Amino acid sequence: MAAFKTQVVSAHEDGAISAAVQQLDAGNLVAVPTETVYGLAADACTDAAVQKIYQAKGRPSYNPLICHVADAAMAERYVAVTAGAKQLMEAFWPGPLTLVLDRLPGSGIAASVTAGLDTLAVRAPKHPTTHKIIETLGRPVAAPSANPSGKLSPTSAEDVLEGLAGKLPLILDGGRSDVGIESTIVGVKGDKYYLLRPGSITPDDITEATGAPVYDRDDTKITAPGQLLSHYAPNAPVRLNATEKQAGEILIGFGDIAGDISLSTSGDTLEAAHNLFEILRKADTMGAGTIAVAPIPDAGVGIALNDRLRRAAAPREAA
Ligand code: AMP
Ligand code: MG
Repeated sequence: MAAFKTQVVSAHEDGAISAAVQQLDAGNLVAVPTETVYGLAADACTDAAVQKIYQAKGRPSYNPLICHVADAAMAERYVAVTAGAKQLMEAFWPGPLTLVLDRLPGSGIAASVTAGLDTLAVRAPKHPTTHKIIETLGRPVAAPSANPSGKLSPTSAEDVLEGLAGKLPLILDGGRSDVGIESTIVGVKGDKYYLLRPGSITPDDITEATGAPVYDRDDTKITAPGQLLSHYAPNAPVRLNATEKQAGEILIGFGDIAGDISLSTSGDTLEAAHNLFEILRKADTMGAGTIAVAPIPDAGVGIALNDRLRRAAAPREAA
């Protein structure tokens, strides 16, 4: 793939948004800020553009991408929105909730976005820059996290540059990602809801909005990079549920366990999500032989934190 001189441009600079829209419209990649993590965006209606995402990330072609829309009205052009899905969009959009819904046939979404599935994952990001880009482009962008496949997700423009320099023309710098971990993914089948990836919006939040229970992922043909066990991996090996530090380790603390560096000294799981990937990166740069991580309660947003940490700690052969 052509080597680019990757430009990092502040999202607030005059003309930054139109430059991004122009690149996307021309079928090129742009890394964009979102409230979850930075996304590697391409025009979701142009197959050749979407292919560039898989190439730049080294992402397996069977892993479908999330389509980012401006709002529910744009989503309705591409997916069948059930009454319950509409309630979820009203409750959580724009925001860190992705819904997997039946794709409308002939909607114009490139085949490589869905990797052959007849469902499509849609989300309306909250970050004003990316919202504006999609609204101006007038059609959705496909955007996975802007990092080499299997590595830590990026929560700043510098993180993107570190992983993908030369692989895209433009990175928009919109500051540090607020939420810090990827969106919650919920599959909607009729009036049933399945948690496909935990995130900062919890199953209880979903139930509160819909009045319906949330099931674990079902056994249909849903594949997620989240499903590949090793994912979100720092360079050093990871040891979980560490209450004290062993030789050669950097200990990442939480709550009462101070560690060398803490996800949240007050034991706040939302704060820990915001810090998670940045702290894992930092532990790598501090030269950890092994990264040890203090226990995190497996409830609420802690479920999403433990999901990411288990994958970070998994054997790497599968990555
Ligand atoms: P990423 O954008 O890299 O954080 O990953 C996108 C996530 O969305 C992955 O877990 C995908 O497998 C998942 N995903 C995308 N489209 C679908 C779909 N149609 N059905 C189920 N999961 C999906
Ligand atoms: Mg990812």
